[in-house]
Amino acid sequence: MPELPEIQAHAERLDSALGGVALERFTPITFTALKTFSPAPETAHGHELASVGRRGKHLLLDFGEVTFVVHLMQGGRLRFDEKQSAKPRNGQARWRFADGRALLLTEAGTERKAGVWMVAGDPDAQEPLVGLGPEADTIDVATLAPLQKEHSMRLHGFLRDQHLVAGLGRLLANEICHRARLSPFATTAKLDEDEVGRLVAAIHACIEEGLAFERGLEEMSSSADRPAAVHHRIGETCPVCGDAVRAVEYSRYTVAYCATCQTGGKVLADNTTSRFLK
Ligand SMILES: [Zn+2]
Repeated sequence: MPELPEIQAHAERLDSALGGVALERFTPITFTALKTFSPAPETAHGHELASVGRRGKHLLLDFGEVTFVVHLMQGGRLRFDEKQSAKPRNGQARWRFADGRALLLTEAGTERKAGVWMVAGDPDAQEPLVGLGPEADTIDVATLAPLQKEHSMRLHGFLRDQHLVAGLGRLLANEICHRARLSPFATTAKLDEDEVGRLVAAIHACIEEGLAFERGLEEMSSSADRPAAVHHRIGETCPVCGDAVRAVEYSRYTVAYCATCQTGGKVLADNTTSRFLK
């Protein structure tokens, strides 16, 4: 799934390509693409794209009075639509602009989780953005420490919970724990001052690295190509210490970690029973 660096870089690309261009028409292609009933899509027609921004893992297409909030989820992509065919493959929704160009939201697979919310007024106060946690790229110790005291849970799960910290996913959660030399199963409320400091530094460093990589591309990367020390590297050598990268497998994702760097050599239990409990 695209995470903060991929979404941020993509927002910047779309903003520089389409900023200031008026929207001719927004067309939902499937019944499930548009998640809101009001305001009507026509409300945005004729308005210029003021900016393309980001909140968490959402893209925000701001047309002034109304904003389209786009969530790509796992298989969604928002790309220029060269063909503009009547029935585009995997097509979910299309924005056609006054200069003839168009953006197409596609979603591979059959999950149909990607979607578009159209909102009037402040997007932060409405679904799907209401209740999102602080942005990961600007979070500091003063914000994070009390959140971790209040929500005591495993660190890896904490980092992936969009209501606690917005913008991180499976890849960055793995990378951040490794960079901070913290166990993915560390209990958040028990982290000391030094550990929270390391965690914040690791969050910022991993995001910066991802952003630098992503800004050098013309299209959003796929997960396997992104810079990573442990994610997608199970069984390979830890670049920091030379130990093997290990995994804890869940039904929907894999926690990747280095025992020497992160758990004092302790091998974490392979929690395969979790797939039956979920
Ligand atoms: Zn290591």
